Amino acid sequence: INRVHVSEQGKMGTTSIEARDVGVDALGYVVPNMALGGLLHSRLMESDVAVLDQSVVTQVQMTDTCAQLELDVIENKADGDRLQKKNLTAKLFVIADGAESNLARSLGIDYSIKSYHQKAIITNLKTELDNKGVAYERFAKSGPAALLPLKRDVSALVWTLHDDVADEMIAMTDADFATHIETLFGGRLGRIDKVGERDAYSLALTQAKELCRERLLVVGNAAHSLHPVAGQGFNLALRGIVAFIEGLTLCKENEFWAYKNLKPLVDAHRGEQFKIVNFSDQLVELFSPDSHVPALLRSSGLVALNSFKELKTEFARHTMGRAQSLKPLSAG
Ligand SMILES: Cc1cc2nc3c(=O)[nH]c(=O)nc-3n(C[C@H](O)[C@H](O)[C@H](O)COP(=O)(O)OP(=O)(O)OC[C@H]3O[C@@H](n4cnc5c(N)ncnc54)[C@H](O)[C@@H]3O)c2cc1C
Repeated sequence: INRVHVSEQGKMGTTSIEARDVGVDALGYVVPNMALGGLLHSRLMESDVAVLDQSVVTQVQMTDTCAQLELDVIENKADGDRLQKKNLTAKLFVIADGAESNLARSLGIDYSIKSYHQKAIITNLKTELDNKGVAYERFAKSGPAALLPLKRDVSALVWTLHDDVADEMIAMTDADFATHIETLFGGRLGRIDKVGERDAYSLALTQAKELCRERLLVVGNAAHSLHPVAGQGFNLALRGIVAFIEGLTLCKENEFWAYKNLKPLVDAHRGEQFKIVNFSDQLVELFSPDSHVPALLRSSGLVALNSFKELKTEFARHTMGRAQSLKPLSAG
């Protein structure tokens, strides 16, 4: 992404943030989750980490000396797949099973949940015009939408809508959906020639009320799942994990699983979590269809953002996840 163009449908104010304004080569990169997952998996298989994929943790029990896990493991055999039960014990159990984690809940960890009553529609669009590495963020009455450059003539759409409108858009024919998107983005990428498979995700801000206990750590979406408006969820998850690894590496074998060692790491991450959660939540509030902020104030905000270089740079640093200092990952 070498440029981000932010605008509001039917309003004057727009802002454009260029990579060179911020002194970077790119404001971000759009990476399909499948590609990223595939790469991480192959790097893991090359390492000396024991990997049990195609498995599900079905039960966990915390004792004074370890975490005891029960797993269902699928084994691929020549004569077909077989389901195996397996038991594991661990000094430290890291929960990373996604938003409103079932495993965390099974251990009595509660969640605060704020539903946005919105769904995100995700799809890839083949466009008539080259996107030239520009990401479009469009705030419309129906909700915010982003077109992110994936290939020259393919952009990824993330469109957040009220639940009922989202259901209508999912049920629509590809041709009608394409027409809606062309209008929404004011024809900036010309005709939409092809609409990929459409998926919809319900959106809520969920936060675990506890992030660690003795021998237990909660990370990623299991710890906090955000509205995707600012594209910060995965970034925040990675930064939390880096911070934990750095802290735990310092403990070496010295009770790295102990609450007294985990708690300071969690506390140090909380400040950043708080900032990013609020940044995303306030953007949703600012541009949501039911926002209490008058439209004129919003478009003046975009004009102001466009006019003041420092403000623009600061906004870009936030969305790039660079507003916080990050130590190099000393563990390598
Ligand atoms: C529409 C949308 C767009 C987004 N866009 C962006 C973006 O642009 N940038 C960004 O930074 N973030 C974005 N995010 C957020 C990002 O997707 C999440 O932050 C990220 O997926 C969190 O990763 P995770 O591994 O914690 O959880 P998940 O991705 O939910 O992964 C959890 C994994 O745990 C597995 N699992 C579940 N239960 C068990 C069990 N019992 N045993 C074993 N495994 C289990 C699941 O199969 C899954 O593979 C977006 C999210 C949405 C919904």
